[in-house]
Amino acid sequence: MAETLGCRLCGQPLTRTFVDLGMSPPCESYLRADQLDEGETFYPLHVRICDSCLLVQLPAYVAADDVFSDYLYFSSYSTSWVEHARRFVADMQERLGLGPDSLVTEAASNDGYLLQHAVALGIPVLGIEPAANIAEVANQKGIRTESYFLGERTGQDAAARHGQADLVVGNNVFAHVPDIVDFAKGLRALVKDDGLVSLEFPHLLRLIERRQYDTIYHEHYQYLTLRTAALALEKAGLKVVDVQELASHGGSLRVFSTPAETAGEPTELVLKVLKDEADAGLHSVEGHDGFAQDVFAIKADLVEFLVGAAREGKSVAGYGAPGKGNTLLNHCGVREDLLPFTVDRSPHKHGMYLPGTHIPIHPPERLAEVRPDYIVILPWNLREEIVHQLGSAREWGARFVVPIPRLEVI
Ligand SMILES: [Zn+2]
Repeated sequence: MAETLGCRLCGQPLTRTFVDLGMSPPCESYLRADQLDEGETFYPLHVRICDSCLLVQLPAYVAADDVFSDYLYFSSYSTSWVEHARRFVADMQERLGLGPDSLVTEAASNDGYLLQHAVALGIPVLGIEPAANIAEVANQKGIRTESYFLGERTGQDAAARHGQADLVVGNNVFAHVPDIVDFAKGLRALVKDDGLVSLEFPHLLRLIERRQYDTIYHEHYQYLTLRTAALALEKAGLKVVDVQELASHGGSLRVFSTPAETAGEPTELVLKVLKDEADAGLHSVEGHDGFAQDVFAIKADLVEFLVGAAREGKSVAGYGAPGKGNTLLNHCGVREDLLPFTVDRSPHKHGMYLPGTHIPIHPPERLAEVRPDYIVILPWNLREEIVHQLGSAREWGARFVVPIPRLEVI
């Protein structure tokens, strides 16, 4: 890595810290028992903010090719996400009048969780998915999908072969590309001059407000406001014309943009979201200060609680083994001595260990056998659902602990 890091949006030197979470292994690198005696690679999680354009960014410590070329995440396993995609496609069909002569192209199309709904409506599609194993699954389902990373060159090639699209979609990818400007140019190459680009990504305003610092991990290269997303799109000749605020991933934006030459005036909602960001201080560099202190408060409260529980002889277990839990536990230095195990519903994680902390992952039934005094819920986004599911734990007197946005024992 170069000695002075440059902003990936405007090229200015990056000298200012947004938050430094120390060193952590990639958050999806779960370990098998036979790997516990081997070395593990830790990378910095040092998030910077550009003084000049205000892009909050994590340098590309881990290369995207290493993370995404053989990815294990299949979007279709999440029924609520598939339904979210179905409603979106139906809305877009109506808004844009899509039909058999149209084209919908999606970047990071995964296993076709979204494009399948366009196919069902008779609309031609093209998926672009860098993970070859996942692209293969989409093709087997009859969803035309090619496998490569989207950038200006690959976008131009795809448009030359298949034509430009009426609608180009990118869900949860704009924050996950290390070269955001080249990716935006790829979007521009794929879309017709009068077409629409729709992008969804977590909103930095919500991350800060709800102290969701555990959503910082190595594959998440930038933390966007509408303002910084618009700057990145502008560099590719795209202009933001509309936006929607979504509840997904703790609070996301769906941003609509069109080629600048045909773009009209932005909607009232665009002005409203920009105003919310400005009011929260996010249109100045100093306005981003204070997050590091919030993060430290979460760490101090959690560590104090776990040490106190251990001293009192209380037993503690975790619930869930999400990637975000790994950022939290590594940052807080919580290991087996403070959290002897966690449980997860996903069978392929059973018998595995959390990266960095080496906390074992068991099936949920283990909780009823051990009857811990406290259950720490790691996926805060599923908190209500989990407390409800684990209602029987109340019978042995267990209490639930949620560390984010602030420690709560319920
Ligand atoms: Zn910059």
